[in-house]
Amino acid sequence: MNNHMPPTDVAPGVLACHGCDLVYQLEDLPVGSKALCNRCGALLRRHVANSVERSLALNIAALFSFVIANAFPFLSLEVMGRIEETRLITAAVALYKAGMWELGLLVFLTSVLFPLMTLLGMLYVLLPARFAIRLPGVALVFRIVCNVNPWSMLQVLMLGVLIAIVKLLDLADIIPGIGFFAFIALLALTTAAYANFDAAALWPFSRPVAEHQQAGVTAAQKNLIHCHTCALLVSANVAHESQACCPRCRTPLHRRKVNSINRTWAWVISACLLLIPANLYPVMTVIHFGQGEPSTILSGVIQLIDSGMWPLGMIVLIASILIPVMKLVVLVFLLITVRLKSRWRLRDRSVLYRITELVGAWSMVDIFLIALLTGLVNMGTLASVRPEVGAIFFAAVVVTTIFAASSFDPRLIWDHEEERQ
Ligand SMILES: [Zn+2]
Ligand SMILES: [Zn+2]
Repeated sequence: MNNHMPPTDVAPGVLACHGCDLVYQLEDLPVGSKALCNRCGALLRRHVANSVERSLALNIAALFSFVIANAFPFLSLEVMGRIEETRLITAAVALYKAGMWELGLLVFLTSVLFPLMTLLGMLYVLLPARFAIRLPGVALVFRIVCNVNPWSMLQVLMLGVLIAIVKLLDLADIIPGIGFFAFIALLALTTAAYANFDAAALWPFSRPVAEHQQAGVTAAQKNLIHCHTCALLVSANVAHESQACCPRCRTPLHRRKVNSINRTWAWVISACLLLIPANLYPVMTVIHFGQGEPSTILSGVIQLIDSGMWPLGMIVLIASILIPVMKLVVLVFLLITVRLKSRWRLRDRSVLYRITELVGAWSMVDIFLIALLTGLVNMGTLASVRPEVGAIFFAAVVVTTIFAASSFDPRLIWDHEEERQ
C-alpha cells in the first residue's frame, strides 16, 4: 500500500464510528473479537486473523463457483415430457425479451454484474496485499467495490429462486442443475468472504503521529474527517489543502454526507409517489392452459395464501409491502426528529436506521420472482408468465428506497448532542 502520506494529528489504530462519529483507539483489539461502538452500537471493527489470506482464498473459490453457476444449467422444468433448461442469466434475458429492458437490466446488474465486479474487485485489492506486488488504482477499485457491494443481491435472488420453485411444484417437475448447486456454494463462499474480511488489514486505521487521545470525543469536534472507504481520519486542514480528497485513497471527503437531509427527503417523496402505481397496476400475468388474469402484488399474495402456501405469501407480503412502507415511515421519522434536534432514544434511532439500511434489498425478491417465473415458465398457452408494467414501478420503489436510506447520514442523529455539550 501507499506509505508516503501527509501527516495528520492522529495516533495509530484510531478510527471514528461511521454511525455516530465518536473516535476510538482500537490498536490492541484481540484477534477473533469485534468491537462495537458503545454509544450507537455500530460495528467498528472485526479483527480477523490472517484476514488477507482467508478472504483471498474464499474470493477465489467464490469466483470459480460464480463461473460454474453461470455457465451450467440452473433449473430444468419438465411439463408433460417437455424439458426446458434455464441458466441463471435466463431471468434477465426473459424480461428483456418481454419488452421490459429496464427490469432486465436491473436483474442483470444485481444478480450477475455487481456480484462479479465485487469478486474481481476484491481479488484485485487482496492480491497485491498478499504478494507484495504493486497494482495501479487499488484504492479506486476498493472504492468501487464498496459502492457496488450493497447492490449485489445474491441472497435475495436465492430467496426468489426458492419461492419460484415452490410456486411451480404443482405445475411441473423441477430438476436442479449443476449451476444451482454452484450457486448455493457461491452464496456460502461470498458470505464467508465478507465475514473474514478485515479492512484494517488493508488500510491501517490511522498513521503513527503520537497524540494523546481523549475519550468520548467525535471526529468533528477534533476537526477530523472520516474517510468512508479506508477509514482514515484526515485533519480538516489537510483535506482542505488536497481539495477535500482522502490522501490515501482519493475518496472525496465530507464532514457529513452532502445535503443529506434534502436528498433523503427527495428520494422518500419519490418512493411514496411510486408506491401508488406499483400497487395499483398488475405486476405479472400467469397463463395456465390459455387462461390467466393479471395480478397485483397484493392479489399475488392473496393467491399464494388461498392456495395453501401461506408461509410464501407472508414472505412476499413482508418483503414487498411491509418493508418498503416501514422503510419510508422510519426515514420520515428520522428526518423529522433530526430537524427537531430531538434527543429522544438516540441509540434506538441509530439501530432503527441500521435495520432500514439492511433490509432494503430484500424487497427485490418480488422482482427476482417475476424474472425467474418469466424465464422458467415459457411454454406458450400451456403455461407462461408475462411481466406487467406494475413491476417497473415496483422496482423503482425498491431502488429509490435504497437510495433514500443511503442518502441519510446517521451521524446527524447525534450531532445535536455534541452541540448541546
Ligand atoms: Zn457510534
Ligand atoms: Zn481514504
